[in-house]
Amino acid sequence: MAEHKIFVLDDEPDIGNYVAQVATLSGFESSYFSEPGAFLAAIEAFPEACVAIDLQMPAMDGIEVLRRLSALRFRRPILIMSGMDRKVLEAARHFARINELPVSDIISKPARVEELRQVFQKLHGSSHLLPTRAELVEAMQRREFVLHLQPKVRIVGDAGGGVSYIPCGFEGLMRWQSSNRGLVSPDIFIPLVSTMRLNAEFADYLFDSALVILENWQRSGVAASLAINLSAPDVEDLGLADRLWQRCAGTGVDPARVIIEITETAAMRYPEQALDVLTRLRLRGFQLSLDDFGTGYSSLVQLQRLPFVELKIDRSLVSDCLGSEHTRIIVKAIIDLGHNLGLTVVAEGVEDEATLRLLHGWSCDLGQGYFFARPLPPDQAEAWWLQHNPVGDCSGRLA
Ligand code: C2E
Ligand code: CA
Ligand code: CA
Repeated sequence: MAEHKIFVLDDEPDIGNYVAQVATLSGFESSYFSEPGAFLAAIEAFPEACVAIDLQMPAMDGIEVLRRLSALRFRRPILIMSGMDRKVLEAARHFARINELPVSDIISKPARVEELRQVFQKLHGSSHLLPTRAELVEAMQRREFVLHLQPKVRIVGDAGGGVSYIPCGFEGLMRWQSSNRGLVSPDIFIPLVSTMRLNAEFADYLFDSALVILENWQRSGVAASLAINLSAPDVEDLGLADRLWQRCAGTGVDPARVIIEITETAAMRYPEQALDVLTRLRLRGFQLSLDDFGTGYSSLVQLQRLPFVELKIDRSLVSDCLGSEHTRIIVKAIIDLGHNLGLTVVAEGVEDEATLRLLHGWSCDLGQGYFFARPLPPDQAEAWWLQHNPVGDCSGRLA
């Protein structure tokens, strides 16, 4: 099957051919390359292959190859091999991770046949589980991707000196209700949408799904904002703002109701394009939120040049608050910095009341997490909203 291809890159033909042979024994259709240029051309022609790459090569080293793969938005499993010490392999793995490249394993060379076989069998086992491009396209045609909605709430004090909350909107999180695979998590299919270069189609699909929900809410009097998530390639698509606005204009939905969430990693990948696209989105009336803040490597100094109105503290930091003094210091500092830059601050991943109290003590504006509600199908989300009977004007405007 096509998705069982593997491309092996190693400058030493003996080793490269040996690795490719073991991959073939493990069920792959393998091709060996001694030269990075030919290897990268093969990936461009066939982005669905898995790859095994050596780090030390004379013409172009493995880090440069990883950088090129990232630029190609390669998202298939990568095996990194090297005769260097383990620390170098670990550093290369880390480099791949921050460049959004999925590393399935790292192997020290020389590797024994059995060791290599195990790694390839694991890779083979997982690689055919991944959907193909045709399957994703068909899933869109059948409208199998559905938005589930998780409430966002304003954190407020109550009359008794305690803490309470008022619903103010929802975040839309995609699920794939696949006829063959069951319910598939976005962590699986979102990276594939980029690999398969389906970003524009998927963003339009997502946006249309959000507009259907907002139109229904307009009819039933739900004055909630709706946040959607975009990926790095969307932020680099110079036609995006106009396209989304045109779709919005066709419905009568106020763009101010729509919050577009972008991770700091996505915003900083090509900052110039991001600045163009994000500024135009704001000019068109959409709100912008900086997602997963605290997990990337960019600084607020760089990020404050981008026109965000909201900052979401990553759930890994929020869930660590109770257990770690250090994390508490970081979260409190992020809230203060956000406020000083005029941003609304949201804590995501709030799972208990003790964390909510801490956040309230630090004047965090909004919260989101299992403590309030899990992501819900749209009909249940609407029922949740009506049941929590929001008071005051929370009509999607951010503080
Ligand atoms: P995210 O934007 O950071 O979304 C929040 C994730 O945290 C969601 O996972 C949500 O279910 C989960 N979550 C919410 N509250 C809690 C909590 O209290 N505790 C814990 N442990 N987790 C909580 P989900 O739905 O699996 O989505 C994962 C990621 O997939 C999202 O992370 C987002 O980056 C991406 N994603 C989802 N839908 C879309 C989409 O339509 N387009 C794009 N580009 N990305 C999407
Ligand atoms: Ca998000
Ligand atoms: Ca997030």
